[in-house]
Amino acid sequence: MNKMQQLLYPELASSATAPSGDADAGPRVSVLFPLPLPKAYDYLCDSEELPPVGSFVSAPFGPREVTGVVWPANKGEAKKKNAKVQNLKTISRVFDAPPLASDLVDFIDWAADYTMYPKGAILRMVMRVKDAFDGPRMQTAFVATGEKPARITPKREAVLAAAGAEPQTAAQLAEASGMSEAVVRGLVSAGSLAKVEVDPDPPFDAPDLMRAGPTLSGDQQYAADFVAEIIARDEHKAILVDGVTGSGKTEVYFEAVAAALRKDPDAQALILLPEIALTLPFLERVEARFGAAPAPWHSDLTGAQRRRTWRRVAEGQARLVVGARSALFLPFPKLQLIVVDEEHDSAYKQEEGVIYHARDLAVARGARAGFPVLLASATPSLETVVNVDEGRYEAVGLAGRFNDAQMPDISLIDMREDAPDAGKWLSPRLVDEINANLSAGEQSLLFLNRRGYAPLTLCRRCGHKMTAPGSDTMLVEHRFENRLVCHHTGFSMPKPSVCPVCKAVDSLAACGPGVERVAEEAKERWPDARIEVLSSDTAPGPRTMRAVLDAMKAGEIDILIATQVAAKGHHFPNLTLVGVVDADLGLAGGDLRAAERTYQLLSQVTGRAGRAEKPGRAMLQTYQADAAVLQALASGDRDAFLAAEAMGRQELGFPPYGRLAAVTLRSPDEVALDRAANAMRATAPVADGIEILGPARTPIYRLRGIARMRLLVKARRNVNLQAYLSDWLKRTKSQSGVRITLDINPYSFM
Ligand code: ADP
Repeated sequence: MNKMQQLLYPELASSATAPSGDADAGPRVSVLFPLPLPKAYDYLCDSEELPPVGSFVSAPFGPREVTGVVWPANKGEAKKKNAKVQNLKTISRVFDAPPLASDLVDFIDWAADYTMYPKGAILRMVMRVKDAFDGPRMQTAFVATGEKPARITPKREAVLAAAGAEPQTAAQLAEASGMSEAVVRGLVSAGSLAKVEVDPDPPFDAPDLMRAGPTLSGDQQYAADFVAEIIARDEHKAILVDGVTGSGKTEVYFEAVAAALRKDPDAQALILLPEIALTLPFLERVEARFGAAPAPWHSDLTGAQRRRTWRRVAEGQARLVVGARSALFLPFPKLQLIVVDEEHDSAYKQEEGVIYHARDLAVARGARAGFPVLLASATPSLETVVNVDEGRYEAVGLAGRFNDAQMPDISLIDMREDAPDAGKWLSPRLVDEINANLSAGEQSLLFLNRRGYAPLTLCRRCGHKMTAPGSDTMLVEHRFENRLVCHHTGFSMPKPSVCPVCKAVDSLAACGPGVERVAEEAKERWPDARIEVLSSDTAPGPRTMRAVLDAMKAGEIDILIATQVAAKGHHFPNLTLVGVVDADLGLAGGDLRAAERTYQLLSQVTGRAGRAEKPGRAMLQTYQADAAVLQALASGDRDAFLAAEAMGRQELGFPPYGRLAAVTLRSPDEVALDRAANAMRATAPVADGIEILGPARTPIYRLRGIARMRLLVKARRNVNLQAYLSDWLKRTKSQSGVRITLDINPYSFM
């Protein structure tokens, strides 16, 4: 372990005493383990043929047997002659799983260098699936033989009725018939059911690449041809597919997927989506287009579903995968195209474990392996726009909505002039519009990106704000459950009737609105309307959410009050009014991308209005009607907004015009933390083009009893930020109880 790794992963310092040996002393291989370790370790191998790089193997590591992957030999390692070969341990076994492709091995090495996480931590993201390395473990299933049992009972009849030519396991038969597995076994002895061995991970149906998609519009055809030509050239390009919501970008990239898969019978393609909530309807759309459901990958899959996708991808059998950001680490043997849908979405940034941005890594993966990467968005990120402007990325645009559906008419409601009644959140003008919509039998969406009833609970007597234990996070009232909940730590408690500080009775007041509170107001105002709330609380899990979204689509809801879960990707034909309850919400906080994100989110949500024949309108309630971002939304002038944003960032040298990294220190001991942060600041090497900001307390300073301070490193674009950081970390003394994490190109500053 080098010094930097010791600093970042102190708990591993003692276990990482792996052997290394003499290069000339017999067949040996390097093995990388899915542990936060920076390099592969050498092992002897007594099989006749050395397992190739990428093979899954098991080997003793410390006191345990660990599954790892054969890795290219560490550079410079072969020259070390001092270690003795008899120190080397031997690989215990080689698994059946196909070896990782060399472009993935190379990508893991690169991603480790880029993100500054150890290679083993990146490999862990590839290997996070149980029982997948061992090849198929066959499963016993049963088929009906057609033979009648000598003794027939109602139970046996029920099982036989459920059985057929398709093999089913005893558990499946028991469930289908409502009988026990003992009845199934009885029928096997009686000769009416026969045992067969089946693969528990059935293959995916092949997409029909000859199936015609819809007839494309002129714009769409141009874009599809443009992309197809790049695919035919077999080279890497990042290509922005730019068009408003509903312009038909999805149809364009479906053509690209078909083209990439047609070109090579072994080719695979990956479509990344930012949210799992979107995947269910999307999987159906892919199935409708290609006649076969793609292999899914997201956190809501069961262990068996994950294993199926992983294995079938590794074999090259699954040719089209639709997944969330972690699908980037699936073991594709021949990935030839990645589509990043809604490329601007900040959900692509993984903030826990290894911190990475899936869009950026997708482009890097394509660049290293030599295949195109499509980035689709109606509101592309400034990073991507600048990459296009500076010629690094290509771009094709779709003008207007497909079928000339109108863009919604967006207006601002200045809340200083059109104030709601005290204790209410909907302005008179928005109320009028909803009234009009209700009389016309059209649907309305009220958007507020805040879960629960009220974001703040305050004692009216002593001013105490309710926070989570050991944290500086506010407890959010959830009135349906009568609980106070912390959205950062997951802590929750029943709402107390007494202030915990001054002991005043019934003094705790709900401050500000969440979706539940707006729903309360709406139900009061429109008692006869069909009103639903949709947020990740009211609909835990994609299936429940789907039911509400389907009801909305079917016109069974008059007013939907929702957080961002309803903002993206959905198409509600009878929705003609979108009211944004608090358009200023995302602008507070001083995040460098606050205005950009507000623009993206609000244009996405207002884009839900009037997607079919009926024109739509959107109203944004704001106290900052003059803010550039709101003016840009109202006028629909995206490019002017982006130009102004670009100028602001350029002046400050912020991304994409400069590079940024966050160094966050954490400790339960605030004194030690303060000392460590200041000591670290003091050891920062002076370098041309580098500026260090901080240390400063993070906006949420304490979380679950851990306090955090942050240093930001701002660098000119031509500076090797990673090299600078690693030099700095080498000079940093580790302090007991203080942990350091690095975030290259941070998106979250909380
Ligand atoms: P985007 O991805 O840009 O938001 P979509 O591809 O989802 O747009 O298209 C919006 C709607 O228009 C979808 O319902 C889609 O099926 C339909 N659509 C787009 N292009 C065509 C086409 N060429 N022919 C028929 N329907 C289309």
